[in-house]
Amino acid sequence: MSITLDQVTKRYQGSPVVNDVSLDIGDGEFFVLLGPSGSGKSTLLRAIAGLSGVDHGRISLHGRDVTHLSAKERGVGLVFQNYALFRHMTVADNIEFALRVRRMKAADRRQRRQELLRLVALEGMDERMPGQLSGGQQQRVAVARALAHKPEVLLLDEPFGALDAKIREELRRTIREVQRELKISTVLVTHDQEEAFALADRIGVMNLGRLLEVGKPQELYASPATRFVATFLGAANLVLARQTKDGIRFGKTPVSASTPGPLHGQREHEVVAVVRPEEVELAETRESLESGYLTRGTVEELIFTGALERMRIRIDDGPDAPPLTNSNGSGSALLEVTRTQHEQRAFEIETGQEVAIGVRRVHILPTPLSSFTTCATSDSLAEALVQQPLLAELASRMKTRVSIRVEPKLGMPNAPCETSSVFSGTTVIAAHSEAAYHAQWLLQRGAEEILVLPQNASPPQRVLIHWADESVRRATLAVSASVLRHVSAEAIYIGILPTQTPAAQRPHGMRALLDARSEAQAVHGLEMRTELRFGDVSNELARQLAELPGQMLILGIRGNKDLAERFGSLFADAHWPVLIVHREHEGPAS
Ligand code: ADP
Ligand code: MG
Repeated sequence: MSITLDQVTKRYQGSPVVNDVSLDIGDGEFFVLLGPSGSGKSTLLRAIAGLSGVDHGRISLHGRDVTHLSAKERGVGLVFQNYALFRHMTVADNIEFALRVRRMKAADRRQRRQELLRLVALEGMDERMPGQLSGGQQQRVAVARALAHKPEVLLLDEPFGALDAKIREELRRTIREVQRELKISTVLVTHDQEEAFALADRIGVMNLGRLLEVGKPQELYASPATRFVATFLGAANLVLARQTKDGIRFGKTPVSASTPGPLHGQREHEVVAVVRPEEVELAETRESLESGYLTRGTVEELIFTGALERMRIRIDDGPDAPPLTNSNGSGSALLEVTRTQHEQRAFEIETGQEVAIGVRRVHILPTPLSSFTTCATSDSLAEALVQQPLLAELASRMKTRVSIRVEPKLGMPNAPCETSSVFSGTTVIAAHSEAAYHAQWLLQRGAEEILVLPQNASPPQRVLIHWADESVRRATLAVSASVLRHVSAEAIYIGILPTQTPAAQRPHGMRALLDARSEAQAVHGLEMRTELRFGDVSNELARQLAELPGQMLILGIRGNKDLAERFGSLFADAHWPVLIVHREHEGPAS
């Protein structure tokens, strides 16, 4: 490996800007860090370069731990967006600067400079001043200068940012060629997905300081694991569907789709489906569709863009309509569709026309958090929960919906549910002294995830994770990973052993922590820290939560009978949100 990051964290004013990032970059690999502005890309790159320190974690370059070495000792070449050339020096002097500092002989310097100028296609420009070069040429000089001292790693931070489209493409090609010729391990930072696709061997997508997913461009596009990557890499419609024993269903319609695996004795449940605009088929009638029928809709907007026709289709509402959100805004029922010239000729469409909609390919996200339903004894109480900042933030970042469910007999022993429908997604209730009984009541009636929200809870800065039974480890980790992708918080798994645990048993506890961490990383793409505590589970968790403000607990439990008895102290007058992950049956072995 040429670059290895192990749980790198960098905080500013206490909040993680780079959050527990682990990554291996291979020799000669062209790696692109992609993410929106403010996601922590530059901070991570600066940490690799040694321009800023880290608060946690280790950085190795070619097997050498450089965490505490200065930038100069790390052997990296750097290129930034603003061409940081020395304005008063010629191109030749700019490129030779690092070589002069290293006391290389003049003849050798000249030879190296000429090699580099050839490499970046600027032969003969040696005596120009930066002011006499175009922006694209200046960036080429910056690349040549970064490579002069033969660094082992090349780091580029939005190097094309200030250039116009055509120059950008030329420079892109040059950088790719230089990188291939020198076989130098390269990390390039950009917010532009097209650029990432054009350059990368592999892409790492960052958001809110976390590295969400890493993969080859085609893989990430076809099979994203997260909502963020699905919608950031190209356009995507996110549709709520149900996974049943017979496959995936939208509303009442079954469709064929790549499923995340059989149901494992679980009940039918809600899932999030990704439908790319180019995978939608349109036809006059349901019968003339070649792909699986989704629903009907009306073309609301139609834009001709040359090769492609883009449209937004309002899908018919009605009890069977598939709940839909797309990458351009939450809650909107507009389906994004693109069609090729070929498709346009086969079936011409105008704005306002009604069409039958089919889908050729559906990708199901593995996320266990699909949507939210607030539940209370009255409409106004349920409505008030929707406005709670943590819930509003989560739903908006997940681009998912929040529905309302009124259960007048919530918490009353032996009372049946008022509403006949199953509990879909995460059920949200208010925190108060009876909350544990309410949660238990819901669990006994089929809810699987319950979020208990104190008044005015905001997004947490730290999320504590604990499961009370090993059989719910997998489910708890999956839910935790999903939550942590949507908040800017550090994740800490708390293992708790009884106070009387004999010393000889304690190493087992430590090993369990490491196993939990590896599973979180390998299966759920979640990096977390671990801590081992001793004492009574409920008291220990309550103590940890009370220690600092801004914390949240994700608690995995099995069985639905003794929640109030075992964990009541975690809910009574609590100021922290608790997300309960409940599974009745043992999950599948991983
Ligand atoms: P990106 O390069 O992905 O746009 P950055 O790494 O530059 O993101 O910044 C990530 C976050 O860290 C931003 O919210 C930014 O305001 C904050 N940040 C970056 N540098 C500093 C700093 N020196 N002091 C305080 N906050 C910073
Ligand atoms: Mg940046």
